[in-house]
Amino acid sequence: MRIGIGYDSHKLVEGRRLIIGGVRIPFKKGLLGHSDADVLSHAIIDSLIGALGLGDIGQHFPDTDPRWKDASSIELLKHIINLIRINGYEVSWIDSSIITEKPKLSPYIEDMKTALSESGIPSGAINIKVKTNEGMGFIGRGEGIAAYAVCLLKRIEQIISE
Ligand code: MG
Repeated sequence: MRIGIGYDSHKLVEGRRLIIGGVRIPFKKGLLGHSDADVLSHAIIDSLIGALGLGDIGQHFPDTDPRWKDASSIELLKHIINLIRINGYEVSWIDSSIITEKPKLSPYIEDMKTALSESGIPSGAINIKVKTNEGMGFIGRGEGIAAYAVCLLKRIEQIISE
């Protein structure tokens, strides 16, 4: 078995769509980034890459690469899920937390799980928690959103080819 940890944060700005866990969330601001800036998907991706021992998200999807400009992070996640299979592992469990003051994200958790499972993460193998930062720091001031993820990968007997 392998474990991995991932963290990500993005700035909230006007004029961007807010996408978290593959779900479009109605809000006056969105997250700034080269791709769709999906903070939860990025934290999950980094945890999975970490569990494989293959570096980090920036090495796999450089923000200087035009291919990833405004890219859907669910598509990036699909690449990583495939990489996991190629390396002879499967996702056993992912736990995650999103930290934001606003908007309220609990109504979107089930939709996020569904969207994330479209990347190939087994459905029922992911937990998402949401919490505020009690008004403290950059999150408390509504300047950005952060996410943490931990994953467990399990070795598979038969390696599935690309
Ligand atoms: Mg990111």
